[in-house]
Amino acid sequence: MIAAGGALAATAVGTPVWAATPERKLGYAIVGLGGYGLGVIIPQFKNCQHSKLVALVSGDPAKAKRVAAEYGVPESGIYDYKSYDKLKDNPDVDVIYICLPVFMHAEYTVRGAAAGKHILCEKPMALSSAECETMIAACKKAGKKLMIGYRCHFEPYNLEAIRRARAGEIGKLRYFRSEHGFTAGGPSSWRLKKAMSGGGSLMDIGIYALQAARYMTGEEPVAVYAKETTDRSDPRFREVEDMIEFQLEFPSGVIGSCMSMYSANQNHILLMGDKGRIELEPGTSYAGQRLWVGNGRSNEITPPPGPGATQWAGQLDHMSKCVIDNREPIVPGEEGLRDMRIIEAIYKSAREQKRIVL
Ligand code: NDP
Repeated sequence: MIAAGGALAATAVGTPVWAATPERKLGYAIVGLGGYGLGVIIPQFKNCQHSKLVALVSGDPAKAKRVAAEYGVPESGIYDYKSYDKLKDNPDVDVIYICLPVFMHAEYTVRGAAAGKHILCEKPMALSSAECETMIAACKKAGKKLMIGYRCHFEPYNLEAIRRARAGEIGKLRYFRSEHGFTAGGPSSWRLKKAMSGGGSLMDIGIYALQAARYMTGEEPVAVYAKETTDRSDPRFREVEDMIEFQLEFPSGVIGSCMSMYSANQNHILLMGDKGRIELEPGTSYAGQRLWVGNGRSNEITPPPGPGATQWAGQLDHMSKCVIDNREPIVPGEEGLRDMRIIEAIYKSAREQKRIVL
């Protein structure tokens, strides 16, 4: 919680008193106790310097009670989807972290901002760019920060690859390639229902290839061309795509070539310059990243530590620091909106089988 009253007063040189308190921790409400919210994010608070877990929002009261007991959340910090708006009366909650299926992101962002809380929302930001715009507007209106859970911006191997590419270690970048995929499970998963997910592999995992193309090159694509390959007789893919391959054209002439899929496990990033290559495999997974720089695979690099004890602690503490210091997050809602606009163009290109200028 932001320290109240006099603690917010500015010093003579304009630095808020509380900004100099390194141990200050903002309170988070985790919304959706699923694979990511419960399995990945909640255990990360122990690695944070500026973030702590203070509330839970869940449709499963028994699970919420169990998790609350395990992580020291008071029973008064347990909410469900109906009582969610009552978060506004909980002064311990500064940030709401939305770990829900995609179709719920916009609604819970808008309601969360109206409750006076900052929002960290998982990727993909929403079902459509129109929803993203609504979310951005709601947070702006409420005067609250909006950040998207693009954890790779806090992942040391990705940061080192970006640094080396920008430092010119592989010369002039010519070509970027990334494949991202995993084998999707049973057809009952919300990820395979279009109304809940917004789309197939591209929305869920291909977005990492798209993100990497943008942050590795440091450029915005000007045109896309995409081709979808889906076996519609596979019960998993009645509503959403399996494989979608997309080419991105960047202003410098760099070509991005990306593959997204729900029928194979792959996680790879390659940057080809005129003097060498940077390769990451896996590139964006939770752990186990490997990075090579040079010609071929001769130089394996171990990067310096990232901005947090883990990529998730880095992400959570970045959000907290942005609130504390009143800065914009490096991955704000606008970044999620940019991806969603490109994703829409990729789908359009695949549908109409033509190059789409962005
Ligand atoms: P899960 O299906 O595992 O969990 C979603 C949770 O949302 C459920 O457990 C449930 O929690 C709640 N929920 C509320 N309504 C529904 C509903 N109608 N159907 C299903 N769940 C519902 O999904 P994930 O945790 O894997 O994904 C959640 C979000 O996190 C997604 O946006 C996903 O893209 C993102 N994600 C991001 C990752 C990353 O690396 N950045 C990795 C994995 C996911 P409860 O029972 O508590 O109500």
